Amino acid sequence: MPAQYNCRKCPGYCCSYPVIALDKRDVERLAKHHGMTFDEAKRAFTREAHGHKIIMRRKADLYYGRICRFFDTVQRCCTIYTARPAVCRAFPGDGRCGYYDFLTFERRAQDDPTWIAVTNNED
Ligand code: SF4
Ligand code: SF4
Repeated sequence: MPAQYNCRKCPGYCCSYPVIALDKRDVERLAKHHGMTFDEAKRAFTREAHGHKIIMRRKADLYYGRICRFFDTVQRCCTIYTARPAVCRAFPGDGRCGYYDFLTFERRAQDDPTWIAVTNNED
């Protein structure tokens, strides 16, 4: 089934998830992309949370409070698309995205194609 969502028309809600988990291969990919060692990339781009899980560092965002450090908050897109972690490649899979369904429903209902569902998720 073709995807029923269009990330280009979305302000990037999924990139604001508090936990973007990375494994060793994800950190290796980030390191290679930035010409860094594994340890340098791990220190610069990730932090540990929830016990020993490695997660992406975040930064401030107007709409969602906090968002992935690699998100362009003006263009509303990923700045490391070819080097993004596996979890970002897999999400939301084939079919539908719940946030996009909500966004498009509200944009139609409010007759406002620019409407954005804001949240405020802090660390
Ligand atoms: S929330 Fe859904 S539509 Fe928006 S960027 Fe993520 S996957 Fe794409
Ligand atoms: S790496 Fe890219 S796709 Fe993944 S959360 Fe960060 S900005 Fe979004």
